[in-house]
Amino acid sequence: MDSIKIFSPSSVANLSCGFDVLGLCLDTIGDEMIIKKSKKPGVRIIKIEGENLPLSIEKNVAGVAAKSYLNKFPTEIGIEIEIYKKIKAGSGIGSSAASAVGAVFGINELLERDIKKIDLIPFALEGEKLASGEAHADNIAPAMLGGFTLIRDLKSLDIIKLPSPSELVVTIIHPKIELKTSHARAILKTQVPLKNVVKQTANIAGLISGLYSNDYNLISRSLNDEIVEKERSLLIPKYYSLKNSALEAGALGCGISGSGPSIFALSRGYIIAKEVANSFKNIISKLNIDFDIYISKINSKGVRKLT
Ligand code: ADP
Repeated sequence: MDSIKIFSPSSVANLSCGFDVLGLCLDTIGDEMIIKKSKKPGVRIIKIEGENLPLSIEKNVAGVAAKSYLNKFPTEIGIEIEIYKKIKAGSGIGSSAASAVGAVFGINELLERDIKKIDLIPFALEGEKLASGEAHADNIAPAMLGGFTLIRDLKSLDIIKLPSPSELVVTIIHPKIELKTSHARAILKTQVPLKNVVKQTANIAGLISGLYSNDYNLISRSLNDEIVEKERSLLIPKYYSLKNSALEAGALGCGISGSGPSIFALSRGYIIAKEVANSFKNIISKLNIDFDIYISKINSKGVRKLT
């Protein structure tokens, strides 16, 4: 095998009540990457299409992740990476995580090494650090493993894959405004009232129970954020109008995807997810903002080999 092509999916982090610990993997939006063997030793990014991102190994999350993996598992074989970006950088649906996960998974597959996906996560995290300054796995874990994921403890890689009820469909709206992850983090209060913590804990337990028992009503009741939504909503134009319109259209829940500016809604079935998309469109098209809307099932496999 001299070359492989992979699909590296986008993802939604936080999922309202799961701030910094929950995420899910999307199906219809993702990057493609080609990873090839080369006679020239070392790792290089030789092509990026779709986004204006650096080819330099040190400045691209794919390069940093690849180097981190190769430092631990060296090879004499040279490696070339081509990145075909479909996920817009800074959209809030795990653009950098997709590149980091794709690079590490792709190289591991190319070299036919028997290392489990979960054990590849630390190298992808090194790449993600470049984008956000800190190691966050709430996009890395779902992009790598697929489905819903819970990060119980990052240091010990205590990451749990949760069940994905089959009728869940995600609608995403990406208002194309610039919002830096570091800014969305910096505006957060460092202290949270105890009563909010209690509510958040109850909701996350409710959401996880709902995922295990296919209880869509419980999932819906639990999709609330008591910790960061209020502050972060201020960074997204018409956030509450968009959210309310999704709920009126029948969504189970709606919230900020990662640190924004994308917003996600979870619905039961494609028909409602489409109505949610229309309701988003009605509101955003009145503003002078470019946007993308996506509808996706949950991708239960995560990053995968195409050819
Ligand atoms: P998202 O908001 O979609 O999760 P991030 O905030 O994680 O996106 O990452 C975007 C930042 O990472 C941008 O500043 C971008 O320039 C940088 N970056 C570096 N390499 C990549 C890459 N391969 N793909 C996406 N973003 C990258």
